[in-house]
Amino acid sequence: MLVLENPIDAQTELSQLSQSELIVLVPTMGCLHEGHLQLVERAKQLGSRVVVSIFVNPLQFGPNEDFDRYPRTFHEDKTKLETAGVDFLFHPTAADLYPNGFSCSIEVGSLANRLCGHFRPGHFNGVATVCMKLFEITRAQVAVFGEKDFQQLQVIRNVVRDFNLPLAIVGHPTVRDTDGLALSSRNRFLSAQDREIAKRIPQTLFSVRKQSLENPDLTISQLLSEARAALAPLEIQYLEITDGPNMKTALPTSQVRHLEVPRIFLAVKLGNTRLIDNIALKEEAE
Ligand code: AMP
Repeated sequence: MLVLENPIDAQTELSQLSQSELIVLVPTMGCLHEGHLQLVERAKQLGSRVVVSIFVNPLQFGPNEDFDRYPRTFHEDKTKLETAGVDFLFHPTAADLYPNGFSCSIEVGSLANRLCGHFRPGHFNGVATVCMKLFEITRAQVAVFGEKDFQQLQVIRNVVRDFNLPLAIVGHPTVRDTDGLALSSRNRFLSAQDREIAKRIPQTLFSVRKQSLENPDLTISQLLSEARAALAPLEIQYLEITDGPNMKTALPTSQVRHLEVPRIFLAVKLGNTRLIDNIALKEEAE
């Protein structure tokens, strides 16, 4: 595995690959877990060269968020990626990606202001900007993103569509721990007690799906109020059922069966740790 430390090295190395190679990019912020490694496996199936980027992107963190506290485990990550058979690890510094005078960024539009975006102003603009840079630097033909961050995946799909970017975006299902909690680099901040409480997140989401399938007459508002009760004492930032690729909020009086691509989304806070999750509400397996 070749470690590429800055954009120039990455561009030089990757542009020397034969035209017949298909480059697949997996962008990450490091502190890698099995969820990331499944994206890597997927990437290996999709192309002939896999590039994983590790970059904790300051542009996507708000002033009171956990940028400084975000776990950084580069040496362990590197070993995991080597073992996984990754070809290139791109690991730039913030100064490399945002040199003095850096001033252009992507404005994502209304999807960026909803759900996570409402609680994290500017977050998705920061994500879109760094991904655009990663796409340009690597010239990947495919990039793999996790459905764990479903809104991010949709934002990136919109960026690719709106800027006619020559790459395909592939979404990969959420990878969960044995207790159902979605794997996340931030789970390491949870105490054993927090972890017990956090189990309610997937339990509640899957219970909403079960209920909506078994009692199709239940309204969105009935489903959500039961879910809210089940999530106590977690501090809920948002809990919403949405429909369609632009993730429009479903009417409280409607039923899941009347929605085309319904999903339930939530963000909660457990102490200082913010956790997000989402699942599809129709039959597809998770
Ligand atoms: P992060 O390092 O948290 O920025 O995540 C990098 C990529 O891994 C993103 O596309 C995430 O959606 C994806 N990812 C993170 N956790 C999971 C998970 N539990 N299952 C699937 N994908 C994940």
